[in-house]
Amino acid sequence: MDPTDHLKASLEATVALANAAGAEWNQGRAREPLDRAAVEVVLRQTTNRSLPIDDTAIAEFAAGGERIYRALVLLADGETDAAASAINALLSATHAAPLLVRHRESAWHLHFASEGASLATGWLADFGTAAAMLLGSDEVDRLRLCAAERCDNVFLDATRNHRQRFCSTACQNRTKVAAFRSRGTQA
Ligand SMILES: [Zn+2]
Ligand SMILES: [Zn+2]
Repeated sequence: MDPTDHLKASLEATVALANAAGAEWNQGRAREPLDRAAVEVVLRQTTNRSLPIDDTAIAEFAAGGERIYRALVLLADGETDAAASAINALLSATHAAPLLVRHRESAWHLHFASEGASLATGWLADFGTAAAMLLGSDEVDRLRLCAAERCDNVFLDATRNHRQRFCSTACQNRTKVAAFRSRGTQA
């Protein structure tokens, strides 16, 4: 595993949580309140471990995810100073601190959960750190808001030429179909 792979996975999870907790619309659907299944989908992007997620953790993920979403939107809009303040606030609220850890059957790797932090706070410290590293890197140009209607997701452009406009093929297809229909009506 490349040392940066862990960070990439963490960043994917960060974006997924932000969208699930903060975007008003996700790929054509009004956002639903964050539940255990949604949190599990997010965490599966970055860990294979199955973690005990109770209602307190879900509420914490929801609040933290919304904060991250707002910070990422600022970042995507080029409001870098405001995004930096928001991410710094999250880093101090979660007491993010680098610590090498080793789970059963895993190699040593870096987490940012401080000792004694709750499960959700620990992950939010990791996600805040991933957002902070994105902000401080050239990769920040890849962060974008989905151009589709009824989608407020942020996403990381994975294309080489940085031309991706939609968060997903679902949004791309929906937009194509809508354009086709509106041409049909005009004709
Ligand atoms: Zn780990
Ligand atoms: Zn979208």
